Amino acid sequence: MDKNQLYRNIPKVDILLEEETVVAAIAQYGRELVMEAIHTQLNDVRKQIGACQDESEARGLLENLPNSIAECAKRMLEPVMKKVVNATGTVLHTNLGRAPIGKAHMAHITEIATGYSNLEYNLEEGRRGERYSHFEELLCKITGAEAAMAVNNNASAVMLILHALGGGGEVVVSRGELVEIGGKFRIPDVMALSKAKLVEIGTTNKTHFADYENAITDQTKVLLKVHTSNYRIVGFTDSVPMADLVPLGEKYDIPVVEDLGSGVLIDLSKYGITYEPTVQDALRAGADVVSFSGDKLLGGPQAGIIVGKKKYIDMMKKNQLTRALRIDKFTAAALEVVLMEYLSEERAIQHIPALRMITMQEQELKEKAEMLKEKLLQMEPLAQVEIEPCESQIGGGSLPLEKIGSFAVTLQSGKMSTAELEEKLRKLSVPIIGRVQNDKICFDVRTVQDDDMVYFEQLKGLL
Ligand SMILES: *Cc1c(COP(=O)(O)O)cnc(C)c1O
Repeated sequence: MDKNQLYRNIPKVDILLEEETVVAAIAQYGRELVMEAIHTQLNDVRKQIGACQDESEARGLLENLPNSIAECAKRMLEPVMKKVVNATGTVLHTNLGRAPIGKAHMAHITEIATGYSNLEYNLEEGRRGERYSHFEELLCKITGAEAAMAVNNNASAVMLILHALGGGGEVVVSRGELVEIGGKFRIPDVMALSKAKLVEIGTTNKTHFADYENAITDQTKVLLKVHTSNYRIVGFTDSVPMADLVPLGEKYDIPVVEDLGSGVLIDLSKYGITYEPTVQDALRAGADVVSFSGDKLLGGPQAGIIVGKKKYIDMMKKNQLTRALRIDKFTAAALEVVLMEYLSEERAIQHIPALRMITMQEQELKEKAEMLKEKLLQMEPLAQVEIEPCESQIGGGSLPLEKIGSFAVTLQSGKMSTAELEEKLRKLSVPIIGRVQNDKICFDVRTVQDDDMVYFEQLKGLL
């Protein structure tokens, strides 16, 4: 074939600009974007002709140019960050955005964020207010703390606490609690950044009361406990409970701080989940300051919540780091509406999506699995679709050993491998992320929200 002839046949920009499809694209997406798309597509088509071995295929590429330009312009306006269906069964999936926000809560947040709000304005007195004021009282009421605030996430909360209370001095931590959380958050490294000196005590499996007391010097500024959220040390172990550390802190006038990680506010053991120490437990035991995430078991927006004695919270509110780590209006609005649900445990379980999924009982899961199976069979009558028991996980580094019984709808194609199918599902316009187990795709229905069901219609003709 004559490649030079083909190159000569590539239309000029002004010719392309007269094509009907391109004119329509300009009307829809704007001239600047379409011009960029034209240049990208012309470059691509030159390269493709260079690599092409088949003349009719090359002609096809040229003929299709107006369409590829319109497609390309359209793609430029499609956000790269998109909704996915979480069918992994991991409720607080960090890679998939941890806790989802409820639609009703989001409606309120939208109203706040799309206009102006009293974020830092005291409407009673007509003067400057505090961004924490919207949820501080709620947090105090729910947890029993004297004061509260919130920053960007729990990693920053820990950093702020260590900087404000421990900076320039020593912070005592048990070797059994020197955790690394996903995303390389390591207690020793955060400590170094906060200008506090880490004093490690005890051993990996055992730390005793005397280890804490022996470590106290006139430089000691904080006794820190860290919840081992994402791992467990089992067997011959010992650690010192908060209640025992508190009198020690009082004796030497040193604040006792706990990084709780998950920040569960209700006792989930009633719903068959292993008991996880609550924020209220830590405060009741006498902790001076407690920090936890907003988007783990609390089920709210990403945030690092700090509660405790007013004297210490005030020190943190005044710290310069707070300005750098402060939450925005979205988070402040979300925290208030989500925390409000906790005024009644029943409401929290019903209205906070993560809690609702975690506590969903067998019968409901089974019904959901039946519904999904029906749907899949409607879409692909020839596919192998089965309902099987499976195990969901909490995720987000919370309750790492917990497996909650659930149901999965499993899918096999017969025409393509499970790996190929997994990739196809991942590349749908609303991707469906499942698990691969025993060479089948498993959709754990626990994390498939009711509104997500419709996206399984994308499977029509896929298999
Ligand atoms: C998850 C976790 C963190 C980090 O919290 P983010 O909100 O993800 O920043 C810190 N400490 C502990 C113990 C955790 O479990």
